[in-house]
Amino acid sequence: MPQPRSVTRATVIGAGAFGGWTALHLLRRGVHVTLWDAWGPANPRASSGDDTRIIRATYGPDRIYVDLTLASFPQWRALQKATGQLVLRETGALWLAARDDRWERDAMGHLRDAGVPHQQLSPTQAKKRYPLFNFSGVNFVIEEPGAAYLRARAACALVLGQFLAEGGTYREGRVEAFDGRTPPDTDIVVYACGPWMGKLFPDVIGDLIRPTRQELFYFGLPSMDGYRDGQIPVWLDRGPGIWYSIPSGGQGIKLASDDRGPVFDPDNGDRGVTPAVLAEARAKLAERLPSLAKAPFLDGKACQYEQTPDSHFIIDRHPKASNVWLVGGGSGHGFKHGPAVGELVAECALERRKLEPTFLLKRFAKR
Ligand SMILES: Cc1cc2nc3c(=O)[nH]c(=O)nc-3n(C[C@H](O)[C@H](O)[C@H](O)COP(=O)(O)OP(=O)(O)OC[C@H]3O[C@@H](n4cnc5c(N)ncnc54)[C@H](O)[C@@H]3O)c2cc1C
Repeated sequence: MPQPRSVTRATVIGAGAFGGWTALHLLRRGVHVTLWDAWGPANPRASSGDDTRIIRATYGPDRIYVDLTLASFPQWRALQKATGQLVLRETGALWLAARDDRWERDAMGHLRDAGVPHQQLSPTQAKKRYPLFNFSGVNFVIEEPGAAYLRARAACALVLGQFLAEGGTYREGRVEAFDGRTPPDTDIVVYACGPWMGKLFPDVIGDLIRPTRQELFYFGLPSMDGYRDGQIPVWLDRGPGIWYSIPSGGQGIKLASDDRGPVFDPDNGDRGVTPAVLAEARAKLAERLPSLAKAPFLDGKACQYEQTPDSHFIIDRHPKASNVWLVGGGSGHGFKHGPAVGELVAECALERRKLEPTFLLKRFAKR
């Protein structure tokens, strides 16, 4: 692809799901890219810094994320093929709809329109197909057989490895808060600093990206047929209170609440788990997978969402510096979209594609 004259050198700050893929996509479009990260891709403070993340196209009323998911899937697969490392585990996913099922009905409309294989199952049908589960109190189940989980931390390291193999430059170091100036040796700077975006841009972002404290727990699975990696689908229980779960074989089965926790400091916040939330997670596991009621607690920690007021991402130019790009606000669902977000940012920065209105800062202008 020919190198655009206006952008020959780019600096990307943040090597998480968004920054890593943005760096790779800019590089593949002929730009010389230097990628920075304070502590490395998917480090324990980063939002991408955990073992697993769900990838699915069931997305309620938001068609845009169905499209981003479908654009990302083949790129995760291509990364897997290029590196020979396992990135995606295609378990399928079950959505357990509660009494208020508008979200699921909207989601199925988009799945149908986008041609994504799925099925609506009654609790009785679901029980026949997934005998380990207890579907009591569930209205219906959406089965999305193509959904999967991503090996998140490992995948971020692979993206960096691929970036280096294709000629990118990586530096470890913390970049200072934006002072209105860009370094002279770069044409554009992309800030993809996850939960730190508000600290780096207090005036432009501030609490538009609010880090929220989210606890997650791993429980041990028995080493026997039926419980092995890939044999239990990812599942999301939509109420009351949203819980999701990723069964990943030897790592155990992960459970976490999707309800937004209190504001959290990504630098110095305490990442320990609290007994009350652990007890809730165990109760949810026992409710839906009764054979795991006594599963041993293996591990747990607090991570953070980078939450925007409307849960949509922020992908925009800095309002006072058109060569500075702001990319973040994954809001608890960004990881899977890393490849498509990186592609969108690279294409917009090279002026080959228009910005997506859903992600622009001006949507918050009335606040
Ligand atoms: C518990 C939990 C579960 C989730 N589950 C899912 C899921 O199932 N599916 C899904 O799609 N998404 C999920 N998400 C959301 C997803 O993980 C995040 O939206 C996504 O990882 C954000 O990526 P990022 O690149 O924006 O941020 P990060 O991964 O935080 O990356 C930002 C990087 O910037 C670096 N950095 C920050 N400041 C500086 C600086 N000044 N100088 C240099 N470097 C800096 C950091 O070190 C960090 O590596 C979940 C999130 C959490 C917390």
